[in-house]
Amino acid sequence: MEFCPKCGAVLLPAMVQGRRVLKCRVCGYVKENSSGNPGYRVTESIERKPLDKISIVDVDVSTLPIVPFVCENCGNDRAYVYEVQTRAGDEPATRFYICTKCRKVYREYA
Ligand SMILES: [Zn+2]
Ligand SMILES: [Zn+2]
Repeated sequence: MEFCPKCGAVLLPAMVQGRRVLKCRVCGYVKENSSGNPGYRVTESIERKPLDKISIVDVDVSTLPIVPFVCENCGNDRAYVYEVQTRAGDEPATRFYICTKCRKVYREYA
């Protein structure tokens, strides 16, 4: 419960120009009701991607560590390493190697 800072009366919920506010019935003081129940709910939708739809293209390789890895495609000896935790965590992560030169993606089952 909130009280009017001007006269100390109890602020009551009211609608002013379509917004929920707290209003003093004594002196007319209006407080924007920013906190509390806004009158609607936000539902989050979490999209779970199956493993075979994980897109390596979306990965920012500049943030990935580089490890020694021989690329069969171009003979390069360096690759970015990228780990994907697939399921509930009781299974090992799937590791991808992305050639730093030709960007060919190799998949390793740990
Ligand atoms: Zn008041
Ligand atoms: Zn390569």
